[in-house]
Amino acid sequence: MREQNQQLALLSWTDQMRYLTGYCEDGHKRLLALLVPAQGEPAFVVPSMNMQQARSNPAGITTVLGWEDATGWSEAVQSLLRSWKIADGADVLIDDELQSVHLLGFQELFPNLHCHAADGMLSQLRRIKTDAELASMSTAATLIDTVFEEAVGTLYEGITETELQDVVLAAIKRHSSTPSFSPLVCFGANGAMPHHHSDETKLKRGDVVIIDIGCTSEGYASDITRTLAFGEPNDPDARAVYDLVSRAHHASRAAAKPGVSCAAVDAAARDLIAGEGYDDRFLHRLGHGIGLSTHEPPYMHSGTTLPLEPGMCFSVEPGIYLPDRFGVRIENIVTVTHNGIRSLNAEPATELRIVG
Ligand code: ZN
Ligand code: ZN
Repeated sequence: MREQNQQLALLSWTDQMRYLTGYCEDGHKRLLALLVPAQGEPAFVVPSMNMQQARSNPAGITTVLGWEDATGWSEAVQSLLRSWKIADGADVLIDDELQSVHLLGFQELFPNLHCHAADGMLSQLRRIKTDAELASMSTAATLIDTVFEEAVGTLYEGITETELQDVVLAAIKRHSSTPSFSPLVCFGANGAMPHHHSDETKLKRGDVVIIDIGCTSEGYASDITRTLAFGEPNDPDARAVYDLVSRAHHASRAAAKPGVSCAAVDAAARDLIAGEGYDDRFLHRLGHGIGLSTHEPPYMHSGTTLPLEPGMCFSVEPGIYLPDRFGVRIENIVTVTHNGIRSLNAEPATELRIVG
């Protein structure tokens, strides 16, 4: 912060707070913040009822100021900024996910401070994973691979998408883990919508099925997508499209190594898919960084010029979506090594897998 002349960072109850302190608590819309000055000791400002929890933060931050609903948090925050001698007109960093109501309140109190998004600086710290972080991510990845196989084993004709979601959630719980996001299950034509909300659609013989699920270990996330067919696929193009997405998935993985830009890794899959005429059916970026957050920088698309470095972790998840027919997506999490990447997940099938 001193190098970049930022005098203060105000972080909300997000993965930013969790990353820096090991502590994070749902503020239930109230301001629950970590304030980090460039000079001085960091402090928490929390609702009074959360003070005991905040005091037990693993980072050992001892200054915890509480505030009451009736009087608000202005005085606590003002007293801290005074004690740190934050200058009028200073540049300060604000958590990207701080609620607008609190940012507006902060700006009203300190109209001359220049507020900037904290995400850029925090993501610099977070994008290279330590060995301990990688170990947690590998554990989470292995766990979700196991959960996926358990879920596939329960498929039967007539099971609904939400029932399969429940199967996944129960399996994650049985393994003493928590979901990193709500399981995404798509049967048949629903698979043509990358973010379809699972509903009461029943599994039919011949459906192409997309299952996109994740869980956590020590707070670190996993995230995989597998596409398979329940019986012989009805759509005559299902196998060929799966084969193309599989080749695109591996093309991006082959292109990824230190020094190569995120954009180039995205392009490796995209060019291959475009070459077969499906460029307008690859509806999203290649992937996203992953760590404490399931989605975090770097984002793998043509706008990210950032070069890869050993220790970064990201998803490789190309997809092709054919409206009213089916979709295919194949997603593994990889980590950048000294000469390429290593997959944290088991390998996806190279040909469309038929179950049931
Ligand atoms: Zn996913
Ligand atoms: Zn993903």
